[in-house]
Amino acid sequence: MMSQVVTRFAPSPTGYLHIGGARTALFSWAYARKMGGKMLLRIEDTDRERSTEAAVEAIKDGLSWLGLHWDGDAISQFGRASRHADIAHELIARGHAYKCYCSPAELDQMREEARAAGKPPRYNGYWRDRDQSEAPEGVAPVIRIKSPLSGDIVVHDHVQGEVVFKAENLDDFIILRSDGTPTYMHAVVVDDHDMGVTHIIRGDDHLTNAARQIVVYNAMGWDIPEMAHIPLIHGPDGAKLSKRHGALGVEAYRQMGYLPEALRNYLARLGWSHDDDEIFSSEQMIEWFSLDGLNKGAARFDFVKLESINGHYIREAAPDYLYGVMIALAEEVGRLADLEGLTANKATVLAALPELQPRAKTILELIDLAQFIYASRPLPIDSAASALLTPDARSVLGDVRDLLIGLNDWSVEAIDAAMRTLAEAKGLKLGKLAQPLRAALTGRTVSPGIFEVMVLIGRDESLARLGDQIDMK
Ligand code: GLU
Repeated sequence: MMSQVVTRFAPSPTGYLHIGGARTALFSWAYARKMGGKMLLRIEDTDRERSTEAAVEAIKDGLSWLGLHWDGDAISQFGRASRHADIAHELIARGHAYKCYCSPAELDQMREEARAAGKPPRYNGYWRDRDQSEAPEGVAPVIRIKSPLSGDIVVHDHVQGEVVFKAENLDDFIILRSDGTPTYMHAVVVDDHDMGVTHIIRGDDHLTNAARQIVVYNAMGWDIPEMAHIPLIHGPDGAKLSKRHGALGVEAYRQMGYLPEALRNYLARLGWSHDDDEIFSSEQMIEWFSLDGLNKGAARFDFVKLESINGHYIREAAPDYLYGVMIALAEEVGRLADLEGLTANKATVLAALPELQPRAKTILELIDLAQFIYASRPLPIDSAASALLTPDARSVLGDVRDLLIGLNDWSVEAIDAAMRTLAEAKGLKLGKLAQPLRAALTGRTVSPGIFEVMVLIGRDESLARLGDQIDMK
């Protein structure tokens, strides 16, 4: 029987959860869910200088926001340092590792000699078979692993295929530093083994590390987990992803107004595919996910596509859910006037949302679109809207106001009928009335249907806003 699938996400807490890390986590999560297994979270915090508690929180927060829930408590790699040291010593006892007392000057010289001989600069195995009785006094040794001297080390990778590394190119790398702390290469293996990890999914910048890690697995006689090294995300131009091209933390995407389900859907498509499906739920992704579906070529980040997926999710979402997201975002990015307006006009905003949703690609745009509801008078009029408010248009608005004052039934149908009659009487197209009306009532040229707007903000507010523009000299 195959053992339960265990994947893990192993970020180094030196900054926010960046978009590449989020995608790695997404794949690890989807695979674990698909297989009825677990995804564990290991915080690789052994670099004490660069690791911060704030980064740990930012990573957890980013994962939670994306809905990528890990199983059990997050594991601190630093907290396992004594276990790493024990295994390093066990490797010595098994004859697979040894203490090395070389000084920095000796190591420099070794590298120089290798370079002069036209070889890659690396450790030459000086202490590999030397008797420990020759150890210099007062020198704290490092522990190095005995890498195989010949043959191949093969990484069987679900994405990259069989990747062959020549053993002669690997030196006896350090597994425990002279201060007793483990190196990354060693800690990862001990942790993955102890955590029962069966599948490692990570960026292909770790592919050469995989060969070294296999040396440690073999030395301990441990099973090597299955591996999938995924190509990194590139910018639209094919170059390494830069900040401008989207190399940002997931919280930056939240602050730009993307929905977590849209970002999750988009990230899934970045490096993985299922036929030509572009839009799918997480349940579908889990159902369809397989390591074989991971793409070998580098993915290119495309904001236009992300926006269009986000627009789709905004259109499909329930208004009360979106309302909550708008409130949270207005608060997070400090748009306090919007926060106040949205809060004070909840019922109107909820009623307006079905009209606003098809017009917004991000939650920030949705907030902008909702502003006409709570904007205070006289409304700020944007430049495109101002251009519509010519003297002629203002005089037409005067007729509109007279008509509306006499209207008993303030419904979309009644307003619509009255406006059509007026347009006909004046020999104008309905649009000639509607455009300046929209400008006066919303301050913009884009809004929901203008009669809907009038019903949403009500008779008094509509007439007052019209008055502000008509009476303006
Ligand atoms: N901590 C490593 C990183 O953030 C990942 C190590 C791994 O996945 O094996 O790049």
